[in-house]
Amino acid sequence: MLLEQFEVVEGRPASREQTERCHTTAYLDRLEAVEVPTLLDPDTVASETSYEAALLAAGCVLGAVDRGGFALVRPPGHHALPDRAMGFCLVNNVAVAARYARAELGLERVAIVDWDVHHGNGTQDIFWDDETVLFASLHQWPFYPGTGGPGEENETTVNVPLPAGCGDEEYLSAFDERVAPAVRAFEPELLLVSAGFDAHVDDPLGGMRVTAAGFRELSRRCRDLAPRLAAVLEGGYDPRTLPVLVQFALEGLSE
Ligand SMILES: [Zn+2]
Repeated sequence: MLLEQFEVVEGRPASREQTERCHTTAYLDRLEAVEVPTLLDPDTVASETSYEAALLAAGCVLGAVDRGGFALVRPPGHHALPDRAMGFCLVNNVAVAARYARAELGLERVAIVDWDVHHGNGTQDIFWDDETVLFASLHQWPFYPGTGGPGEENETTVNVPLPAGCGDEEYLSAFDERVAPAVRAFEPELLLVSAGFDAHVDDPLGGMRVTAAGFRELSRRCRDLAPRLAAVLEGGYDPRTLPVLVQFALEGLSE
């Protein structure tokens, strides 16, 4: 397996306190209390072990922040809202990590770049009024979940909606023209990447045409934007290509 060349460490679960920086107590109580497979939204099922899995996923991202790593986790997080699950996401992993960096590492400015093919509506929602965290997203639009359209922005929220069919060239120029300048101007001490791979040409859910080399280039560009860097897996639904795409992203992030 390609990933064997990288050092793999197991994560620890995030604590309730760390998770409650982004989610309501009532929602986390509800998730913890699930005893049989339950639909939390039309796409999102939870069972009796989901709460533990969600805290482990979020905790792995905290570990990735500490080590400058890539959190290979499921479930993903970027659709999760403060008070509810959405789109396969239970706990907003990247958001918990950003608040961890602020509260426990003392960082003043954190940027999140989200290149999952879907808009990271949960992350945007959590940080909409938080000027210490910049959120920048490249995504297919119009598309699920419907948010992140033209003009949906504020000082620390940058949305770059792209029409279906975009490939490496469109993604890289959108990154260079919109995302990189905004992140540079914000001067983050840490950049977190919500790395979804469902914009890949072979992905069964997305309608984009990004290649493995395109993800490596996006990763390379992220590396230059902040002194500290960590990434977390979001979407990516072709199990045959996903390991290779992660490998290419890891190469770009670590070169
Ligand atoms: Zn996605």
